Parts: sequence; structure tokens; C-alpha cells
Amino acid sequence: MADYPTSKELIDNVNYKLPKKGWMDTPTTIRKGMYCYAGNPKSLETVGFPNARQWNPLDEDWKLPENWQEIIHNGFKERLENFRSFKIFMDICVRCGACADKCHFYIGTGDPKNMPVLRAELLRSVYRNDFTTAGKILGKLAGARKLTLDVLKEWWYYLFQCTECRRCSVFCPYGIDTAEITMMGRELLNLLGLNIDWIATPVSNCYKTGNHLGIQPHAFKDMLDFFVEDIEELTGINVAPNYNKKGADILFITPSGDVFADPGTYTCMGYLMLFHYLKEKYGLDVTWSTYASEGGNFGSFTSHEMMKRLNSKMYAEAKRLGVKWIIGGECGHMWRVIHQYMGTMNGPADFLEEPVSPITGTKFENAKSTKMVHIAEFTADLIKHGKLDLDKSRNDHIKLTYHDSCNPSRGMGLLDEPRYVIQNVCNHFYEMPPNTIREQTFCCGSGAGLNAGENMEQRLAGGLPRANAVKYVHDKFGVNMLGCVCAIDRAALPPLMDYWVPGVGVIGLHELVANALIFPGENKRTTDLRGEPLLGMEDEADE
Ligand code: SF4
Ligand code: SF4
Repeated sequence: MADYPTSKELIDNVNYKLPKKGWMDTPTTIRKGMYCYAGNPKSLETVGFPNARQWNPLDEDWKLPENWQEIIHNGFKERLENFRSFKIFMDICVRCGACADKCHFYIGTGDPKNMPVLRAELLRSVYRNDFTTAGKILGKLAGARKLTLDVLKEWWYYLFQCTECRRCSVFCPYGIDTAEITMMGRELLNLLGLNIDWIATPVSNCYKTGNHLGIQPHAFKDMLDFFVEDIEELTGINVAPNYNKKGADILFITPSGDVFADPGTYTCMGYLMLFHYLKEKYGLDVTWSTYASEGGNFGSFTSHEMMKRLNSKMYAEAKRLGVKWIIGGECGHMWRVIHQYMGTMNGPADFLEEPVSPITGTKFENAKSTKMVHIAEFTADLIKHGKLDLDKSRNDHIKLTYHDSCNPSRGMGLLDEPRYVIQNVCNHFYEMPPNTIREQTFCCGSGAGLNAGENMEQRLAGGLPRANAVKYVHDKFGVNMLGCVCAIDRAALPPLMDYWVPGVGVIGLHELVANALIFPGENKRTTDLRGEPLLGMEDEADE
């Protein structure tokens, strides 16, 4: 039996009533199912993170350095000086409460400390105590408190109950971005070696082998070759890609989740098919890299420095191969990092060319500085110019709704391109209610490194608002598939759907594209990429 409550029990446990005591006087209990295991010390050592040791969040003793308060105080000070936005976010919140009920973790748990305003207050209260005159003189009256061990533990618990999705910031009249506050808070915790293993080990793996699972280059190639065989069986077409090809026009980088985990693997097959089609028809020269084999930037869940280090490898590989520019796959945080940080962090990448599609002539203005184009934008442009032969009816067995993955939608404004592609490859598409999509999309509940197994209750509770909106279109229109453009979504949403809305699968955009794409001379298709019979082909698919 699963080690978490049933969906009914989970709903029944949500209590939105005000607690009897104020938040500062309500102690925090770290509860099983709601937290992730501590980072493996070996992983911390690999990347040179401090205070690598075995520790357990449930233990009284977290094995901190003796001067841990001083380390945090100095780290806080340094970040207030270096990051203007952090300082402003510490000062300007008027506690209007507009963000309070916008976080999926608050909606799914009823825990007031999951209100974005209160999550930020966890840090802000210490900021007031250490860095403001009012806080120093008036203490609690001014909303200030000292950084005690209990406060530190509360930070750790709640900063790892934020998926950095930024939904709250959409509703804040001052534009306060609680995700940025969480990022800073996690960065401070990392100064003491307080990380979770589902972040620390992927970071270490990315650093060592180029992808979060630590897969070696030859195994990465083996996986793609395996997909090539499957595709050939289905279509009769050999779509073998280029690997590490020097002088190719374009480097393609995608999250490794697409290469190693269903249902992302089908999205990966979609990329392979699209690029082969474009090579045969238009001579497009794309290469994959077995070294820059991870688009996802797990460093962004630890510190700015780590984010920068992991991001830089993609550009180092583009330079080594001598490509003109980069196409990026369907990823979440890769795009947040590229769109919001890359330009000033490791860029501008002036050694690459400003991206222009060699097939349509379109200049991708959004990618002028980063030189990296989102594959949804690239494909939408191809469709707009009539460059793809598509048979929408091959997706007629799918009744689709679309989940705007938080980072590409809120982080970079990728709202219309995926929908344009969907409208051209699917006949049955149904939007979820307006306050749950586009900029207001609800998080999958597992982003920012929380996609572990031991915190499943947390993930299922945090995913409730998303699932609730899917249930609405499932009940109303018979929706049976949830589309997305993020590898963490493709990993996190299937168990979420099984729990809250059984009967709804999860699919990437380019799996839909590949189902519809007509190759010259291909075999007659009777199934989709997953081997599911196409509508009206049930008998032939069985043969
Ligand atoms: S909406 Fe903005 S100003 Fe209002 S409480 Fe939330 S963070 Fe503070
Ligand atoms: S960024 Fe997302 S998870 Fe974090 S507090 Fe805001 S709404 Fe909640």
C-alpha cells in the first residue's frame, strides 16, 4: 500500500481555519512525506559545497558548524548588497495578502506557512532583526526575530516546499517574486550544507557527466540509438542523428529526462523524427552532444554560482563544436535560466550567430542575446511557413488539454507557440479554466528539485490545484491526455494524474508533432509512437 493518504483523506485534512496562535509562536514539525532526504555528502564534496556530512532532518542535531549563525548573517549581508531585487523584496511587502491563497502548496495543505507572504516572512523576520533599526529596537513588535536553530529548521522545511513557480508574483501589486526569495534562502542554507539529495546528487552528476542521472556519454548514445530502432520499426525510416558533430549548423540540447524516462522518451523520439525530416527535406544540419547532455539546470535550485557553472557547459560545448546557434528542447528550468539569467551570467554568447531559421528565414529576436531558440517556437515557425506535412487525424485518439509549464510560460512568456503547434497537430483540444492556465498556470507541485519519492504527500497536495483543473475538462469533455513542455512535468504529472484524475496520460508537444508528421515513403502507420492504435486502425494495429 502506498505510504501516503488517499485522495479523500488528503482533501479532508486540508484546514483553512486561522491557527490559534500567531505564526511566530506556532512551532514547525518536520513531517514524514512532506520533506526530502538530506543531500549525500559525496555529492556536496564533488562540487565543493561546504559542510558535507551525513545528517538527518528528523534528528535534533543537524551537525552545523559552530559559527553557523555568523555564516548565515554574513551570507545574508553579502546577498543584500549584491542583489538589489532581494533587498527590495525584503523591504516593500505591505502584507496586503493578495498572494496568500495563490500558492498551490497553501491550497493543497492549508498550512499558513505555505502562503507566499509568510514563506517570505520566514526570512524577512530575520532580515528585520539583523539589518533594520526598527527590528533591532522593537524586535517582535516590528516583525523581527532572531535566527535560532528552530528558525533555521523552519527555513529549510518551508523553502523546500516552494517550487519557485512564481505564480504568487503574478498577483503581487509590487511584483515581489517569492521564488527569488526562496532561491536566496536556499542559497543561504547551502552555506551550511543544508540541501536535499534530489538536488545535490543531480547537481553533482551534471557536473561530472553532463546529465542529472550521471549517465556516461556512450550510454546516452545507446539510448538514442534504441529510439532510432523503435522509430524505424514504426515508420520504416532511419532517423539516426549526428553526435558531437563539429561544424554542424545547430546544437540541440534537451533535458536528459527526455532520454531516460517515459513518457519523455516519446518526446525525445519526436525530436529525432523532426530533425531527420528537416535534414532530408531542407538539409538542416543538427547535432546532439553526449557531453552537454542535460538542459535542466539543477544548479538553479542551489545557488547562482552553481547555476552559472552548469549553464556554462552548454555554451562551452557549442563553442567546441563550432555550431552557429542552439535549439533547446522541452524543459522547464533550463529556459528560466536561459531567458532570465544567461544574458548577463555567462553571456552574451557573442561567439555564436544570432539565430535565423535556415528553412524559413525567420530571425528569432527573443534569442538575440542567448543564441538559443525554444523548439516550440522553432516548430511553430515551420508550421506557419507550411514547411511540415502534417496529418492531424493521427492524434484523433487523444483528447488533449495543455498545462503551461511554469518556467517557460511565466519565466519566458511561451504561451501562444505551443498552442499554435497543438492546433495544427490535434483536432481535439480543450483549454482548462482561464485562471489556471497561461500566466496563471498552476505548478505540477514537484518543480525546483522536489520531484523525489519520499515527499510524495507534499507533491500530491501541491499538485491538487493543477489536477483539479484537469479533472474539470476530463469530466466535461472527456480529456484523456495532458500536454506540456517540461521534462519535470512529464515525470511529475503521471503519478499526480493517477492519484487525482485516473485515465489521463501525459504527453510532450513533440510527441504529438511526430505522430502527425508525414515522412515521404514511410510505412502506413496504424499506431502512435507508444504503440497505441490510431482511431479506426484498431484491427490493423492488432495484426
Ligand atoms: S501580494 Fe506582494 S505585497 Fe501583498 S502580501 Fe504578497 S508579497 Fe506582500
Ligand atoms: S513561487 Fe510558487 S511555490 Fe513558491 S510561494 Fe510562490 S506560488 Fe508558492
